[in-house]
Amino acid sequence: MAASGLAALRDVLVPPRCAGCGAPGSWYCVACRNGSDSLVRRTGALVLTAAGAHEGPLREAIHRLKYSNEPGLAAELGVLVARRIAADLAMGVRLDAIVPVRAHPRRERGRGCDQASALAAVAAALTGVPLRAAVHRLGSGPAQATLGRLERRANVRGAFVGVAGSLRGQHIALIDDAATTETTLLDPAAAARACGARGVRAYVVALEE
Ligand SMILES: [Zn+2]
Repeated sequence: MAASGLAALRDVLVPPRCAGCGAPGSWYCVACRNGSDSLVRRTGALVLTAAGAHEGPLREAIHRLKYSNEPGLAAELGVLVARRIAADLAMGVRLDAIVPVRAHPRRERGRGCDQASALAAVAAALTGVPLRAAVHRLGSGPAQATLGRLERRANVRGAFVGVAGSLRGQHIALIDDAATTETTLLDPAAAARACGARGVRAYVVALEE
């Protein structure tokens, strides 16, 4: 209630403009939303679903999401991800948890927001699949000795770290804003499996091809 009240207030003070085409009235308009077709790519055991290709209005929207703190835009792009998840759930795909590919917590604090977490929170709220922040990106290559206590207890895979055992037996949906290639999410997927995840799917707003 308080949050939606604040969002409404913000919309009065800063009237939303579509991040894709600039049209007033919303953070990402219906025309831009309908202009993208979803993409599904399989790499080994990982199925990656994107709400659309990283081009045109969606590319503009991702850029604005990354470089400005606009909860309204994150909410509308989160809806696109939630729709793909809901479609898979309706097809009988099992998903026990939604796991954002989070930035390193220190970096997150510095920037005041984390796009993957914002998208994942919206997707979790809309689909009813629980949110679990079990995996995050390491800082720029810290030596094992400098990792915090929590990180030392956890599993490190590539540039990602997860809380050991936190996803045991679960089928999860990894969430990120964009994937540079079909293989971008293989490392966080491996980190999630190292935390016990049995099945991993990945969902992004946009995929570069
Ligand atoms: Zn638009």
